[in-house]
Amino acid sequence: MLGKQEEFIRRLKGTLGEQAVRLSEPMREHTTFRIGGPADYFLSPDSEEGILEAVRLCREAQVPLLVIGNGSNLLVGDGGFRGAVLQIYKNYAGIRWEEDAEGGCAAVQAGALLGAVAREAAARGLAGLEFAAGIPGSIGGAAAMNAGAYGGEMKDVLVSVRVLDGQGRVTELTASELDMGYRSSRIQREGLTVLEARIRLARGDRQEIARRMRELAEARGSKQPLEYPSAGSTFKRPEGYFAGKLIMDAGLRGYRVGDAMVSEKHCGFVVNCGEATAAQVMGVVGHVQEEVYRKFGVRLEMEVKQVGQF
Ligand SMILES: Cc1cc2nc3c(=O)[nH]c(=O)nc-3n(C[C@H](O)[C@H](O)[C@H](O)COP(=O)(O)OP(=O)(O)OC[C@H]3O[C@@H](n4cnc5c(N)ncnc54)[C@H](O)[C@@H]3O)c2cc1C
Repeated sequence: MLGKQEEFIRRLKGTLGEQAVRLSEPMREHTTFRIGGPADYFLSPDSEEGILEAVRLCREAQVPLLVIGNGSNLLVGDGGFRGAVLQIYKNYAGIRWEEDAEGGCAAVQAGALLGAVAREAAARGLAGLEFAAGIPGSIGGAAAMNAGAYGGEMKDVLVSVRVLDGQGRVTELTASELDMGYRSSRIQREGLTVLEARIRLARGDRQEIARRMRELAEARGSKQPLEYPSAGSTFKRPEGYFAGKLIMDAGLRGYRVGDAMVSEKHCGFVVNCGEATAAQVMGVVGHVQEEVYRKFGVRLEMEVKQVGQF
């Protein structure tokens, strides 16, 4: 007779296919920080049915579940994740477009990269997603985080999302029902899983859209340390300040613990200069928080999400 764990693995593989179920998978392979110990189970389904089944099987077996996209806003602990990581990414990334005279709508599977959606929109002469072209997240992760840049945010283009809730129900929620704020949404607070997002874009001038995207890409390339692995801005923007400026003014540019370092190019980023561990990143984060509070009385809150065992 199979043990509980073997039976769980057998069912997962039977439903999702052998290649979509990995055991003891290093999370450093699935995060842009290139940091993180092993996930007990790593699941990458390629259909909505697969996602629903994976969630159901984990719930039934009482295995803790973490949904991720491109892992571009995550710091996974060095001890990894005890439970199953469900990756909704390249395997589930279809985009369906419908256009009319005023613009167009896209129904986007949650794993599609924002950059890919933005590039397709630009090629169709649809404007509104230029701000998102350089954000390396999936549309599901971007909706959950209400990702934004250069004056735009997901909230501006999102019409609705199809989500799976904790009881296994699939429902459609309109953007106004998602209570989207600065890097926050009901999706995160209630632990909903985004399956598909609908976005609405306006008709624009192809060349102007392409020009704006190039301009923003250049701004990113010149200001952000894209040459090092990171999870983007480490801290949320404190009201009335810029995290990067406070950190620089506190004299912490280049502050380093092991291979984790406050970027010399943009102090708002903690970067991985080689083989940084999550503990080293947290060493930098803790020191930065203490020093910025001591010098300026401002509490910096992490934007990057810490998950798993530290
Ligand atoms: C170089 C760099 C630049 C960046 N620039 C920006 C920027 O300009 N603006 C910005 O806002 N962010 C930026 N980020 C951060 C990051 O790209 C965004 O937060 C992005 O939206 C995260 O998407 P993801 O798919 O990688 O999500 P993950 O990092 O995989 O997950 C982030 C959160 O979303 C949840 N999540 C992921 N997928 C789903 C889903 N399908 N359903 C429900 N919840 C889900 C996860 O559980 C987690 O809580 C940057 C990151 C990097 C590395």
